[in-house]
Amino acid sequence: MNQDDAVLNRVQRWVREDIQTLAAYAVPPAAGLIKLDAMENPYDWPPELVQPWLAAVAGAALNRYPDPGSRALLPVLRTALGIPDAAEVLLGNGSDELIQMLILAVARPGAVVLAPEPTFVMYRLIAHWLGVRFVGVPLRADDFGLDRAAMLAAIAQHQPALVFLACPNNPTGNLFDRDDVLAILDAAPGAVVVDEAYAPFTAASFLEQVGSRPELLVMRTLSKAGLAGLRLGILAGPAAWIAQIDKVRLPYNINVLTQITAEVALRYPAVWQDQAAAICAERATLAARLAALPGVTVYPSEANFLLFRVPAGHAAAIHEALRQGGVLIKSLDGGHPALNDCLRVTVGKPAENASFLDVLTRSLVSLRGIAGK
Ligand SMILES: *Cc1c(COP(=O)(O)O)cnc(C)c1O
Repeated sequence: MNQDDAVLNRVQRWVREDIQTLAAYAVPPAAGLIKLDAMENPYDWPPELVQPWLAAVAGAALNRYPDPGSRALLPVLRTALGIPDAAEVLLGNGSDELIQMLILAVARPGAVVLAPEPTFVMYRLIAHWLGVRFVGVPLRADDFGLDRAAMLAAIAQHQPALVFLACPNNPTGNLFDRDDVLAILDAAPGAVVVDEAYAPFTAASFLEQVGSRPELLVMRTLSKAGLAGLRLGILAGPAAWIAQIDKVRLPYNINVLTQITAEVALRYPAVWQDQAAAICAERATLAARLAALPGVTVYPSEANFLLFRVPAGHAAAIHEALRQGGVLIKSLDGGHPALNDCLRVTVGKPAENASFLDVLTRSLVSLRGIAGK
């Protein structure tokens, strides 16, 4: 037996079969492309932040483990985000890690995690890794709103330990109806995690109520606001929940450079607010221009991206034409039945959005040419 076969034999014998059949989370190469696929903030740090940041980082003790409690960062974070005094806070290496801690903490035999679908795929994926049953409840097909009756029925039937509600939702971009969310909070037997990853781009939030409701946890991240490279997620909730979830946190999960950098960045709230406002203004322009294209349906968005539908059967070709034309966006076609023919574009800088619209328009025109023949 050669060396490769010998390795393969061991892998196949010892790695969980369900892991072996999973596809790895694919991050496509973006070198040389206009990157509008991952909900990143397109703007750089302004020069007035760079100097104080470099000064702070220069003093970092990289020979030491980071403060496991992020004590210098936490008060700055609480103020910047407006976390109520009644709530405790837990930090994660991105909110992805918080999702993992949350599910790990409830992963007893028979436990259920529930979320509407389509939604952020990590809820389902991480539940699967941890051997926890995931129940997906379809969103309304026409507008991706919550199906309140179906959600309440599923909650009554499955008694989920955790319900995840992304508000606004990814990849659909819409905000769920507030009364529907409140009805779910009232009905849930365990915790409801309102995932506010897109908080910088919407006025809606449940953060104010955290700490005064027994089931409510709110999750935030600095990623979409403009610090995706830092990997800092924030979970706010009643102290008793946070204390338990904290026990499955790896001790030094927030590294020194992240703690220092976030502390500096959050002292300049106007910078991030202005960038978010610019992105929201661009979102409106981009949505109007997309909606004017032949055969394109744009869905309402309270996030920094737009979901749109193209003529049936052409999403893959359009996605590839965009890539060939130098623009990387995300195709959702084939990922979930409700998202057939759907593509998702992150709002970029005005010139990036113009390039995207340009290539997309040409690709749609050539489609029509073919269809007309
Ligand atoms: C992007 C995203 C996250 C992940 O954020 P990180 O903090 O970068 O891990 C979480 N939830 C939703 C709904 C997202 O879209």
